Amino acid sequence: MKILSVNAGSSSLKFQMYEMPEEKVLISGVFERIGIENSMYTIKINGNKTSKNALLPTHKEAVKLLVNELIENKVINSLDEIKGIGHRIVQGADKFESSVVIDDKVIETISELSALAPLHNPAAVIGIKAFKEIIPDAVAVAVFDTSFHQTMEKETYLYALPYNWYTDYQVRKYGAHGTSHKYVADRLSKILNREDIKVIVCHLGNGGSITAINNGKCVDTSMGFTPNAGIIMGTRCGDIDVSIVPYMMQKTNLTYQELDNVINKQSGLLGISGVSSDSRDIESGIKEGNERCILAQKMFVRKVVDYIAKYYVLLNGVDAIAFTAGIGENSISTRKHIIDSLKVLGIKLDEEANNIRGEEKLITTNDSSIPCYVIPTDEEVMMARDTYKFIEG
Ligand code: ADP
Repeated sequence: MKILSVNAGSSSLKFQMYEMPEEKVLISGVFERIGIENSMYTIKINGNKTSKNALLPTHKEAVKLLVNELIENKVINSLDEIKGIGHRIVQGADKFESSVVIDDKVIETISELSALAPLHNPAAVIGIKAFKEIIPDAVAVAVFDTSFHQTMEKETYLYALPYNWYTDYQVRKYGAHGTSHKYVADRLSKILNREDIKVIVCHLGNGGSITAINNGKCVDTSMGFTPNAGIIMGTRCGDIDVSIVPYMMQKTNLTYQELDNVINKQSGLLGISGVSSDSRDIESGIKEGNERCILAQKMFVRKVVDYIAKYYVLLNGVDAIAFTAGIGENSISTRKHIIDSLKVLGIKLDEEANNIRGEEKLITTNDSSIPCYVIPTDEEVMMARDTYKFIEG
């Protein structure tokens, strides 16, 4: 059975088609610059990548082209072979505890939640509608970044703000990257051959979050009401003293939108280093002795270690720690700094095993108190699995 996993952004549309339940990737790709000039798309099939220019005024043209490519490349013979489409939704707030089949009510709720994810939810709705129009018979499923975190207790997800901010304005912790955290936690369960494990998953990408998971359920996560909480990220500041915001508004006369832009787009690794938001550039800067790159890296590692230590106590011990996403999967030196900083817990890095990028691997020694793994994440396959479950029951 053929299932598509779709991630629609405001000007992009990423997709991956699977043969399920085998989970074989048949074709993947991305449409870029939708609605702006010089739009193009890239598809990857049997390891071969091709890029083409295309006129993409809206997401609908992208979906039409996608269908053409599927047929031309003989991935499908007709549209009715596509039985399901899983759509990634960034913000489901407390409305969705798990993935759901999309109907008009679901679309309405996703739209209503746009205030909490102004860049992402409206784009997802556009994507859902475009696919519904062109492939109407496929079962459409919404897979939320937030639903995995819905198991957090109230004392964990509430902020110590006036209680009516929660009841009237939905201000609480929602978290993000839930699909990735769940995927990695499931892998750890398989690797350790047990369900009842306590794990910490470090999703370290351009955006980053750390989650404490007990027995497959999220206990706490570092992102908050928005993704700008927790660890230091590429351009987001993560946890700060919130009173800095009104203070700087007063000092600089920046509007709240401008300040929002500073804390989301000009802070983090970029803000500290002054060089780049990309950890590869930070690593190069460190090699050249750039003091601010060294500082940015130290601050990044410190924050990750703070969260691991906090969640170690919260979970009352940990069976495994995993690193995933761009930095977690690829930055050998960042993993080394983090694990070396956890020596007090008896965690010991295996330097040779750690010398890898993008592959699943145990990177601690046999006598390490807690095993640490690199586990490449796969949010798309989780979306395909959830969609498949609704079709096969
Ligand atoms: P997101 O999905 O949040 O946009 P990714 O998970 O793709 O982000 O991660 C992007 C980050 O991964 C960037 O900071 C990038 O520098 C880092 N990264 C990718 N490859 C490497 C590498 N080989 N070494 C170090 N960092 C890497």
